[in-house]
Amino acid sequence: MNIDSILTPALSARRHEQLYRQRKTLQSPQATEVRVDGKNFLSFSSNDYLGLANHPDVVAALQDAAAQYGVGSGASHLVCGHSVEHHALEAELAAFCGRERALLFSSGYMANLGAINALVGQGFSRQASADCAIFADKLNHASLIDAGLLSGARFQRFLHNDMSSLESHLQKSKASRKLIVVDGVFSMDGDIAPLDQLSALADQYNAWLMVDDAHGFGCLGDMGGGSAEHFGLSQNDLPILMGTLGKAFGTAGAFVAGSEALIETLIQFSRSYIYTTALPPAIAAATRVSLALLKNERGLRQRLRQNVQQFRLGAQALGLNLMDSMTPIQPVLIGDEKQTMQLAEKLELRGILVGAIRPPTVATGSSRLRITFSAEHTSVQITQLLDALAQSL
Ligand SMILES: *Cc1c(COP(=O)(O)O)cnc(C)c1O
Repeated sequence: MNIDSILTPALSARRHEQLYRQRKTLQSPQATEVRVDGKNFLSFSSNDYLGLANHPDVVAALQDAAAQYGVGSGASHLVCGHSVEHHALEAELAAFCGRERALLFSSGYMANLGAINALVGQGFSRQASADCAIFADKLNHASLIDAGLLSGARFQRFLHNDMSSLESHLQKSKASRKLIVVDGVFSMDGDIAPLDQLSALADQYNAWLMVDDAHGFGCLGDMGGGSAEHFGLSQNDLPILMGTLGKAFGTAGAFVAGSEALIETLIQFSRSYIYTTALPPAIAAATRVSLALLKNERGLRQRLRQNVQQFRLGAQALGLNLMDSMTPIQPVLIGDEKQTMQLAEKLELRGILVGAIRPPTVATGSSRLRITFSAEHTSVQITQLLDALAQSL
């Protein structure tokens, strides 16, 4: 049979289930006001939490570095693509996190795949992965799930943020290497993992703790050091710290930070590090500037917190079903897929963009609007969002 005649029925089924996904085309920089498919919108749907994706200093750094180093890195890090800009950024990220070293990856998805597989998977040893176990929160990001499944290690999921569920899995495990892995801030719920308790359990059961802090860096902690700073966790308490650069940092890529031995292990055994072209050096240069802004401009985090607070107060007054989140990710739980899509469409007609999140990204019956905030949103814009929500319900 012809390929299209096999693929088309599955596409129709997906449409029928209200699960069909379509891309919008952005015609402006990422910002609180965007142009999409020829229309202007107020956006509450990006992960550019600090407004750095189009910050003039970050843009200028990218342009200057492109003038100096060109565009493409031309090779992988281990061949001849590792530039002084990558090297300097790694040192600055390590210092920022209070870790011995940091290693750049081309994306967060690849960092998770590479780190987990080097530590407890095929990268480490084909036979040994059977003697490894991964303990993952049920709401972990898809990249952590994929990494775990690919690894060949025993993959065990515990109930969301439920330490007794995790402990019962740990008690039963006979694996020689145990890895506990969680999101620092859960991407579709906005709540945070109890890293202090997770670190204590890891210690007690001789497991390693890994945190994916894609949504924590820049937002949590006085200096923007994310979940690790929020809980005051050292390299000893939290040995494998992963962060992404495409969200609050406003650029692209990701990193893993930890001990000298951890980073050298990843350089030797992470296939998604070894077998891919390095990020453009100009992206690393731009990220160095965004790291400086993220650290030094504490006012950004203060404005972000105020925005979240204004929204929560307003949304509570409207009787919206908010979730237990103090972060810039503020989901409004709707439940039904179709109703969620209709609500997002009504908001769109009023000029407001929010994420509409459906299965399989979240559990069936827990579809939601995913509303995200930036330090750059104004109080007037948040009032406009609340008014539009009130009119759309
Ligand atoms: C976005 C995200 C990733 C993937 O990072 P990319 O750099 O976009 O590939 C990984 N983990 C979590 C929790 C994320 O939200």
